[in-house]
Amino acid sequence: MFKSQQRIPDEYILMSEQERDERIRAIKAKLGPKLVILGHHYQRDEVIQHADYRGDSLKLAQLAAQEKEAEYIVFCGVHFMAETADMLTASKQKVILPDLGAGCPMADMAEIEEVEECWKLLKAKYNQEIIPVTYVNSDAEVKAFCGRNNGMTCTSSNALKIFKKLLGEGKSILFMPDEHLGRNTGLEWGLGEQDILLWNRKNPGEVKLPETAPRLILWDGFCTVHQRFEPQQVDEVREKYPDVKVIVHPECSHDVVERADLSGSTDFIIRQVTGSPAGSVWAIGTEINLVHRLAQENPDKTIISLNENVCMCVMMNRISQPHLLWTLENILKGKIVNQIKVEEKITAEAISALNRMLDISK
Ligand code: SF4
Repeated sequence: MFKSQQRIPDEYILMSEQERDERIRAIKAKLGPKLVILGHHYQRDEVIQHADYRGDSLKLAQLAAQEKEAEYIVFCGVHFMAETADMLTASKQKVILPDLGAGCPMADMAEIEEVEECWKLLKAKYNQEIIPVTYVNSDAEVKAFCGRNNGMTCTSSNALKIFKKLLGEGKSILFMPDEHLGRNTGLEWGLGEQDILLWNRKNPGEVKLPETAPRLILWDGFCTVHQRFEPQQVDEVREKYPDVKVIVHPECSHDVVERADLSGSTDFIIRQVTGSPAGSVWAIGTEINLVHRLAQENPDKTIISLNENVCMCVMMNRISQPHLLWTLENILKGKIVNQIKVEEKITAEAISALNRMLDISK
């Protein structure tokens, strides 16, 4: 959820990068195991170099939960990720987001009031069982909604397992908030386009509901980064690099995914690229910081972005080194800034949605 970030003192912005680096390292050494810094794969190099762990959102939240000694967990990612970390850690542990303005546009596309309205209309129309499933890239309130309505969360790694289980049992799914991950997964499972209904969150009255419940109802949200990849970019890169392998994230639209060689989560992309033989050529359809880092760390391969120009997650990039240092220096002074705290009832319901996912994806 977008919140406004207070202006941080100018000294943090004017300071040299080297001084900020040194100060961050000194604070880490001083706080030792009391402090854990988590860095999402899409973070800038200047930030992620200070992370104790790198990973995707759920992996980082689970790692935070294992760090029982840590009093301060600084999450270099976006708001919903810090919420999940707070829900999975003990109440005495403090989860901090260095810039409160770092929200996820996709998560913000599913507001709880709109979700409740959709559910009311679906329940009034259909007797068939519909299970709400939300991608972990969603607000805690939406996860809690799924938890109290017999639903669950999913990640891009386990979405297919969740769909197999629910669709295989003959149930319908309301999938939020990413239309593309939902469609890609539904089609991969074997649904046809005729089995899928696209919701209209701003004008729900305009959705024409068929007589029987569709197998898959898709929320009309999207990732502002992955939505920018286009099918002709795949054709162009194949023309330029005949041996290229194209790998994309399933938050890309279906026409991009079906033209690519491979599609999968951030971790899947990293494993495929790093595990490939020297000399391999890759065009990657995901956030640019990760693509550039993979290129730097694998100099024996040619690694390019499917779209060099526009694919940075602006919100992830709000987490800057000045904000990280400002957060840490406040901890040293005994002042906690930007703590992310989810209320207890929401936490309990959201955790039940997360646990149902974990049970199915074992
Ligand atoms: S990359 Fe997409 S899904 Fe991830 S935080 Fe940015 S907008 Fe949200």
